[in-house]
Amino acid sequence: MNVIKVITIIGARPQFIKASVVSRAFKHCCEDIVEVLVHTGQHYDDNMSKVFFDELGISKPDYNLGVGGDSHGQNTGRMIEKIEDLLLVEKPDWVLVYGDTDSTLAGALAAVKLHIPVVHIEAGLRSFNRSMPEEVNRVLTDHIATLLFAPTELAVSNLVNEGNEGIERSKIHLVGDVMYDAALYFYKKAEQKSKILETLKLSSKEYVLATIHRQENTDDKHRLSSIINGLSQSSVPVILPLHPRTKKQLNLFGINIGTPIQVVESVGYLDMIMLEKNARAIATDSGGVQKEAYFYQVSCVTLREETEWVELVEQGVNHLAGYDENIITKSMTAKFPHTCKKDLYGDGSAAHRIVNEILFTYLVG
Ligand code: UDP
Repeated sequence: MNVIKVITIIGARPQFIKASVVSRAFKHCCEDIVEVLVHTGQHYDDNMSKVFFDELGISKPDYNLGVGGDSHGQNTGRMIEKIEDLLLVEKPDWVLVYGDTDSTLAGALAAVKLHIPVVHIEAGLRSFNRSMPEEVNRVLTDHIATLLFAPTELAVSNLVNEGNEGIERSKIHLVGDVMYDAALYFYKKAEQKSKILETLKLSSKEYVLATIHRQENTDDKHRLSSIINGLSQSSVPVILPLHPRTKKQLNLFGINIGTPIQVVESVGYLDMIMLEKNARAIATDSGGVQKEAYFYQVSCVTLREETEWVELVEQGVNHLAGYDENIITKSMTAKFPHTCKKDLYGDGSAAHRIVNEILFTYLVG
């Protein structure tokens, strides 16, 4: 059998985490699949990129495109150009992309124009809010992918409902969520290695963890101030690992942060796991962090009007607060409903299912 070459395009923090489990599954699967790793450079700070490669055992990227820090259009355009060049040299059998970032769309577009089939992991998520850059990226990527790996049944039905626009049912596979695989794999490591609770002098269940990074929140002074005001009413400390974009915007808008909010630099994944697991509640606009709150049975306040992870809201685990400061403050006191369903995101074998399906499709196709 010929060796199957998969080029994986990653560039942003959550993609490093997702890729760590799928890359390991490629290595464990067989010698018939070779993965070439491409880092677009979308996230380039050490604490947004290097720390994940160091902690998660991801191989050093075979290519680093060094594209990042500009507007969506500039970044996406430059990525497409550079990815096309390397695809012409590497001639892969598949191009694999994750999620909903500019790196996702650039990888998918460059590949499809060269008639290279695209694998999309975390397919079918929809916020139905097309003003979000992430929504545009994920819809377009789904519509040009050949293999679509959906994390939930709802994601499958979102894709099926778009079938008349070109997505065939046979391309869609329900596999579960690779972030759940990652949580199961890395939790023990985090418990052994992380010292973050000691470093920040935190006691379990006596603080709230918050993250803010979505453009709709960071780039709007009124929304950002209102979120900070809502968090500031907490009766316990609020730990806020700061995303570089949020840091820049807080400075630009002159928004001051004081007690009870404690700002720290973005943390590595192992420290993040411990911060999440031990928080009394989590307030976030992150997609991944909403799910991790559920994995670690912590109540979550989502700082958006809608979410792609609707099942968490239905199960009473997640409370949509938007930027309303009163709702944010009140929701931070909600309790995790232990009666919720336990298997919303599969059984922790999403990565193996994905790799097996890629192999199978290649062999029969
Ligand atoms: N994360 C992290 N350190 C932080 C903040 C987040 O390791 O300081 C992890 C988090 O645990 C989750 C992922 O980054 O696995 C989520 O990434 P992000 O919020 O940037 O993107 P999204 O999930 O919204 O696409």
